[in-house]
Formats: sequence, structure tokens, C-alpha cells
Amino acid sequence: MPKRGASTPPVAENDTVSLLPSQRKKAKLSSPNPVVCFVGKPIPVTEARAKWPHRYPSEGKKKGSSASISKEATGEDNEVMLATCHYRQAKIDGVVFNLHDDAYVKAEDGKPDYIARIVELFATVDNGMYFMARWFYRAEDTVIKSHGDLVDKKRVFLSDVKDENPLDCIVSKVNIVKLTPNVGLTTKERKIPPCDYYYDMTYTLPYLTFSNVVNDTVKSESDASSTISSESGSSGCFNGANLANGKTIKKNSSNSSEWALLDLYSGCGAMSTGLCLGASLAGVKLVTRWAVDINAHACKSLKQNHPETQVRNEPAENFLALVKAWAKLCEEFSLLGSERSESGPDMEEDEIDDEDVNVKTEESEDHSDSEDFEVEKLLAVCHGDPNNVKKSGLYFKVRWMGYDSSYDTWEPIDGLSDCKDVLKNFVTKGYKKKLLPLPGDANFICGGPPCQGVSGFNRFRNAEAPLEDIKNKQLIVYMDIIDFLKPKYILMENVVDILKFSGGYLGRYAIGRLVAMNYQARMGMMAAGSYGLPQFRMRVFLWGARPTEKLPPYPLPTHEVVSRGFVPTEFEEITVTYNNKETCKLGEALLLEDAISDLPPVTNYEKQDEMNYGTKARTEFQKYIRLKKSEMVGGNMGTAQSMASRILYDHRPLELNKDDYDRVCRIPQKKGANFRDLPGVLVKDNKVEWDPSIERVKLDSGKPLVPDYAMTFVRGTSSKPFGRLWWDEIVPTVVTRAEPHNQVILHPAQNRVLTIRENARLQGFPDCYKLCGPIKERYTQVGNAVAVPVALAMGYTFGLACQGLSDDKPLATLPFKYPNCLVRSSFAKTEDNDEESS
Ligand code: SAH
Repeated sequence: MPKRGASTPPVAENDTVSLLPSQRKKAKLSSPNPVVCFVGKPIPVTEARAKWPHRYPSEGKKKGSSASISKEATGEDNEVMLATCHYRQAKIDGVVFNLHDDAYVKAEDGKPDYIARIVELFATVDNGMYFMARWFYRAEDTVIKSHGDLVDKKRVFLSDVKDENPLDCIVSKVNIVKLTPNVGLTTKERKIPPCDYYYDMTYTLPYLTFSNVVNDTVKSESDASSTISSESGSSGCFNGANLANGKTIKKNSSNSSEWALLDLYSGCGAMSTGLCLGASLAGVKLVTRWAVDINAHACKSLKQNHPETQVRNEPAENFLALVKAWAKLCEEFSLLGSERSESGPDMEEDEIDDEDVNVKTEESEDHSDSEDFEVEKLLAVCHGDPNNVKKSGLYFKVRWMGYDSSYDTWEPIDGLSDCKDVLKNFVTKGYKKKLLPLPGDANFICGGPPCQGVSGFNRFRNAEAPLEDIKNKQLIVYMDIIDFLKPKYILMENVVDILKFSGGYLGRYAIGRLVAMNYQARMGMMAAGSYGLPQFRMRVFLWGARPTEKLPPYPLPTHEVVSRGFVPTEFEEITVTYNNKETCKLGEALLLEDAISDLPPVTNYEKQDEMNYGTKARTEFQKYIRLKKSEMVGGNMGTAQSMASRILYDHRPLELNKDDYDRVCRIPQKKGANFRDLPGVLVKDNKVEWDPSIERVKLDSGKPLVPDYAMTFVRGTSSKPFGRLWWDEIVPTVVTRAEPHNQVILHPAQNRVLTIRENARLQGFPDCYKLCGPIKERYTQVGNAVAVPVALAMGYTFGLACQGLSDDKPLATLPFKYPNCLVRSSFAKTEDNDEESS
């Protein structure tokens, strides 16, 4: 009789564990042994050998102990237990279990029993009685962990983790039903037959993936992506891209409709810009229809580069309240279901005042009580407190009969009860033109909710309850917006700190919310440098896809990976990278010189926002990043006028004050130079100290050449203050500030900090992307951005997935490199080159 107690639980017991099977603990039990035996005749030898050949190796292959063979012999990950025969039934304490029955399996004392599907019943050569368990995970056994209560208690997830366990670990039967993916979304709406548990998704460890069940009992699903319509489409999008998996995308004309994107926390729009470019490379027309950001300058930048986008300058929480109120209004006016424009929310000037969709708070006279005023029309709508009267609600911007725009005011909806027709007219037009998204209108929502409450710079972090920190509240708002608008796809970007802080609390919450809302989901970390930039910049990306859609894969790197940051527990595994670099041809890492060496010299005092290049591109990167909008894929990035001349925008630095400028002029123009090279500073054991033999050097102003803060920064161990970059370097992360006091940001050969444009180049912005606002605001927009080539690569894999062209693997190879792919012909050229070299 085998000893009871060797069951292998799906997760280990303590909180810090990884879900990797190899790291799980074995249960140790002392409860009485149940009576177990196999029932019926063994499965005929030929059938058993055909089904489980690894358990019946030929004599020559047997190595190691007689009861098992090593992994080298089988090519499997674990030692394989050898079988004498397999059975279809077993009896445990008088209860008969069939193959493929689901069962509770004994866990450690005090823990709920594990849940498994019995996928094999077999006797071993040393007379053991075993079953092969394929484990189900409860939500709390997955990466969701402590947020398990977000998910319906009866819902479990089938894993692909299997292992052998003694038969006597089985406790009792459990009734688990498989449901088709829940398209109706909420659990309440769903008809669940009587059962102990149900499942509609699998959970697999690579990239912490929750996805539709494609293979739970037998391998049945044929690869739906292998038959691709080969109609030679003729949409405005790029056609005929050759995919790495040998498939050819030909745009199917029946599938040519546009995908509407909502960019939340849009900043200046880098993420959506990259996504749309990447989607167009896969033959999908993705268009940013709506964008929301609290920063007016960022909104202006986005609008300037994307005239097709309805840009809303308001807090996301107000936007959420607004879309809910708007949906109600549309319902009240019986508009839902009536005809609408396909072209998106561009309202004609006189219908909707585009500019003034933005909430303005400047003083305007209050005319609401005056009888002289009659409402001519409504111009815009918002939810909030546009008049600063501490009364939040739904407001409309009114144009008064006989008055011009300087008399426009924001009026609460209650004040408009006398002009129902005007209101109806506005809502009807807004509905038709999709001024705001209704549930289902936004096919794709992207964005990175700011979570400043997890930043390592923040000394007041709330580790116990990170979601109660107001600084992390936007993650909840973001998920609530998804819950209301129900897009087919979501892509969330965030800093790696959401996986580091408080055991990954916020990252787990984000996945938990998505899964609870019935999205398929997966999580990966990507380094911008891996996609053709001289910047490391590691970020987390979370995909979500409705069960009706294919979950997109992560794009594998195209360029040499620089290094890896440390991330705890199971999150270590989710860095998007090749397992074996030998098998792929990665481009060489890009260096600072490759990205910026062609830009004309400017001084610390440069004041022009626009100038001529006056220089030629020296590298491939420079050639392609200089493309005009008209030359670029997608072709929807600007007006004809803005393409007329080739002008370099935003190539000016943050102007340093005279003292800092004098300091910068004294930093040698050599690799690794910084304040430590100034007179009066000694370095001992990588720590700075004052040189006692030298009197403290003063600037013309009388201030010290070496400021105290440089000496004390990171207790004297940092060489960042006034650090100069060098041509052969890769910057760690472009940040939002440009001051040289605590970061390496000086130009290698000019006495100034990097210009806005130079930073923008390091983030992969095409040169034609012009930014708005004061200098510091423009640096902020650039530093906040999702690196364009990363977003572009994600847009491409989205494009594959939404056409059903990706397979179920979590990673996909890109058939192009950035920024060459920005132009159609060079996309093809890159492929040719690749083919030649392969
Ligand atoms: N994804 C953007 C960068 C976003 S940075 C890109 O790729 O360019 C985060 C943005 O969130 C900032 O622009 C900030 O202004 C905005 N933001 C912060 N709090 C907000 C809120 N409550 N509502 C809307 N936007 C907010």
C-alpha cells in the first residue's frame, strides 16, 4: 500500500511562494489511510502504451531506478513514473472514481482541499497506486492571490500543471462544470447549473495567462489562424505583411471596419500613437477616437498630432461619471439602437465646439437667472464642477441667443429643464457622432493609470492597504471605466513598482479585476531598449481581451536586451525575452550616438521651438525617425499643412541658471564625467569627500562650484549629479524632469542638458510629433510616455490577435524593426534583409 500524504498541492502554503510546480510543498498528512483499489480490468496494453508511451519505455531507454526514469531519457521536465498498467476506474473508501472525474485532493491541515481532474489511473512497477492530477486553481491560488474575493467563489481555473499522486490522496468527488466563455459578462446574468464549481478559463504560468479553454480533455482545436482569407484588400492600411510564422496577412475587405481606441491618462498620446501605427502594420485600422487627461498641455499636444481624436481635458473619474450620465441621457431620449455615424466623434464646428469640450474654469458671467437670455444651442458637456461652486454634476456649455462665445457659460442640467428640445438636439447629434463612447463603442481601451503611491520616491506609501491611498485610486477608476464601457481589448501600462510594492498588491488587483469582469488576461514586462532605443526603461503591460476575442501575445525583442531588473516571486518570469538568444537574430543595442548625433548643436540658451535641421541623418534610426507624417504608415497623423516643410521641433533644452550653467561648463567632455571631476572633490571607496588641501572653489556669483546637495546625494555614493552622458551609452530611463542635479542628462559634447527633442528621440517619438506647453511641461509629456516602439510592437500583436492571426502562445516574433517599420517600403526591405541574412 502506498503511504498517503504525497499529494502535490497547486500552491504552497506561505504567502511569498511562487506558483511554479517545482517550488510547491508536499503535503504531510497523518490521517487514517483510506481503502483504495483499482476497479475492473486494466486498459489493454496496446491502448495504454499508445496513450501514455512515456510510462512504458522500451528496455533500452530505462535508466535510473526501476520505478522511474530520468528526464534525459524521456525529454520531459520531471522524472517519469513507470507503469505496469493503467485503469479506467478506482475505488476510494467505497466510492468509484472514473478517469476524467474531478476530485478533492487532501491538502495540509487547515487548508481547503485541492481540486484536480483525474487524467490517469495507473499501477507502478513497485506496486504503487497512483493517479495523475491535472490541477484546478481557485482565484486565490493564482497570481490574483489576496484579491481572490473579487472572483466568484464557485469559479475555478483549469491549469496545465499535472503531476502524479498516490491514489489515497483523493478525498471525494467534486462536481465541476465547464461553461462556455461568459459573453454576458456578469455572474448574476449567467445561468450556472447546479455544481460545486465551474470553469471557463485556463490559468497557465507563462505570463500569468488567463485564457479561454482550448484544450481541456483532448487536443481538438484546429489552428483557426491557418486559414486566412487571401483577398487582396485595398484599404488605406498596409497590406501584405509577411508574418514571422509564415502566414501572410491580406486585408480582408469584409473586415475593414475601424477599431475605435480610447486612450485614458493619454498624456501627449505616445501609447495610442504607437498602438495605431503597429496595428496598421498588421493591416488593422485602429484609430484613437477619444483621449482623456487631466493635463491641459498634454491634451493640446495630443490634439495637435491627432486632429481626429476627441480630446477631453478632465480627470478620469469625471469622465467615468460623464459616460454613465451620457448613456442615461441617450436612453432617456430613446436613441439607443438608432443609426450612428461610422466615422467617429468629429462633430462639425457649429454642432459641437471642439475646443470647448475641455472644461474651462475661468470666470464667466452667470446668466442663468436672467430672463433676457435664451439658449441658442449647447456646445459641450462635462461632469464635474466647471464653475467652481463646489457642486459636482452634469453641465452643458451654453451659447446664448444673440451673444458670441465670450458669453458662453456652463449650466447644470437642472437649469436646462425649459429647453428640452435644445438638449435633445445636442444629445442626438452627440450620440450619432459618438461624441462620447457608450458601452461597446470603444473597442480598445489603453492607458496607464498613475499609481504614484507605489513609487520608491514616495516616503508615505501605504503598504497595508495600497488601494486606500488616494495616489493609487486611479487604478480603480481605470477598471471601473473598463467595467462600464466593456471594450473588447484593454492594454494597461505601468511602472514595475506595482509588482514590487506590498507583494505586488496592485498588479494582482489589476489582473483580479479583469478576470472578475470575465476578461482573458496576461501580464508581461518589457524593456524599451529591446525594441530599438538607447534607453532601458522596464515597464509592466497587462493585456485583457473579452472571451469572444483572441488574447494578444507579447512581441519578442528585436534588439539586444541590456540587463534585467530584479522583480520578486512569480513576476520574475514575466520579462518578455527569448529563452535562448542563440536561436534568434537580435539587432545590436542602440546607443545614444545612433539616436541623436545628427541633431544640430544648440546652447543652453536656445529659445527657438522650431528650426531647420541643417544636417543630414547619419544612421538608419535618424533617417527613419525624421520621416514626415505623410511618409509614415497609417498616414493619419496630421494635416497636409504640417507636412509642407521639414522642420525640427522642440530641439531646445531646459535653460539652466547661470550658476548651473557655469558648473556644467566645468564638467569635462569625456565618458563618465560628473561633479566628482570638479576641483575640491575627493573620492574614497566610491564615496565623495571634500579635499582638505583645496579651498572651496566659488563661482562668479559667490556660490560654491560644487553644491552641498551633490556631495550628500545618496550619502555621497552617487555619481549622478551633473553627470555627462557619453555617445556609447544607453540611458536607464528618460524621466519627466531635466534638471542635472540628481541625474545624468548632460549632452556629451555640448554644455547643456538634453533637449526635449533628444529626450523624445530616446522615447522613440517620430520627429514630426510636436509638443505643446511650457518647456518643463513638454519634458514631462515625453518622460511620462510609453516608448513608441514598445507600443507599436504591442499594436502589431493586437492587430494579429484581433484578426485571429496569432496562435495561443504568449509570445510572437516581429517581422520588422523600429524605426524602419515606420515607412511601408522599409518594412518590406527589413524582411528582405532578414531573409537574405538567414
Ligand atoms: N500613456 C501616456 C502617458 C501617460 S502618463 C503616453 O504614452 O504618452 C500619465 C498621465 O495621467 C499624465 O499625463 C497625467 O496628466 C494623467 N493623469 C493623472 N491623474 C489623472 C486623472 N485623475 N485623470 C486623468 N488623467 C490623469
